[in-house]
Amino acid sequence: MDIGGLKKMALEEIDKAIDLVGLDNVYKKYLGKKGEIASFFGSLKNLPEKDRKEVGRCLNSFKKLLEEKIKIKEQEFKKSLKLFKNNKLDVSIPGKKIKTGHLHPLTLVKRRAENIFGEMGFSIAQGPEIEDEWHNFDALNIPKNHPARDMWDTFWLKNGKLLRTHTSPVQIRYMKKNNPPIRIIVPGRIFRHEATDASHEINFYQLEGLMIDKDISISNFKAIIQEFFSRFFNKVIEARLRPSFFPFTEPSFEVDMSCVVCEGTGCSVCSSTGWIEIMGAGMVHPNVLKAGGLIPRQKAKDTGWQGFAFGIGLDRLTMMKYKIDDIRLLYSGDIRFLKQF
Ligand SMILES: [Zn+2]
Repeated sequence: MDIGGLKKMALEEIDKAIDLVGLDNVYKKYLGKKGEIASFFGSLKNLPEKDRKEVGRCLNSFKKLLEEKIKIKEQEFKKSLKLFKNNKLDVSIPGKKIKTGHLHPLTLVKRRAENIFGEMGFSIAQGPEIEDEWHNFDALNIPKNHPARDMWDTFWLKNGKLLRTHTSPVQIRYMKKNNPPIRIIVPGRIFRHEATDASHEINFYQLEGLMIDKDISISNFKAIIQEFFSRFFNKVIEARLRPSFFPFTEPSFEVDMSCVVCEGTGCSVCSSTGWIEIMGAGMVHPNVLKAGGLIPRQKAKDTGWQGFAFGIGLDRLTMMKYKIDDIRLLYSGDIRFLKQF
């Protein structure tokens, strides 16, 4: 008579029961009139009289244990059944949504810009964020002590290097390693040592463009940039050039685009002018071409090179695309802000 083995089996079966019917079967098998325990009791009379009392006691406590366990399990089943019937458990409610990450608005804009320029034959070039003085200034026609250096408030490092103040040094690095014709964009992070406010950060993203060939003119630039903005904003955008000054381009200009909100009729975004100032650009200065190891074009039809360069603020572009009014939000890491994109 192995009561221990029977007990183990019975408890396992209670555990495995998945509903009231299954539990009832376990009850019948062990505690029913013709069940295992009843048949054990029936065979007590075959035992020597001295053992009967002890075995009988064991059987009784086993019976009691099974009754208790089955009762507890039964109550559990009934409770969940009741919940189900009272509609407290609504099986039609959708499951919990899995939270997935997504790209930062700046990354979305950067990738969109890269794709559009890629479609127009521009490839992507990269350069170091820690730059030397020569690439960041001298090679770009900004010699030491030149007042133009004040246009860029610079983070200087202890080793004499600096955090690049624009993506333009990559123009020089690329020209030195690659022969024209050149058609590149340089999306990247840049740094300015200045106070922050709604439209200024100490680090932000710029997208540099450089196109060098034999007969590149300002009209090529205007066509390309109008095409870029039109594809980016999915509407026809006009560009307007105004004379300006940058040491590394000659002539230089500020580029305005027709207002994406009012399309030129005037609104608060464009201060009723119909135009929005968006970037700086110009024809690459001969000194910059020389620093990049190229022979600049001197007169029509000579063998020299010429071309244009431009720099778009990716943060500004992102702010315009998504109508964000404070650049600092882009770097705040505020989940409430970021999950909108
Ligand atoms: Zn407007």
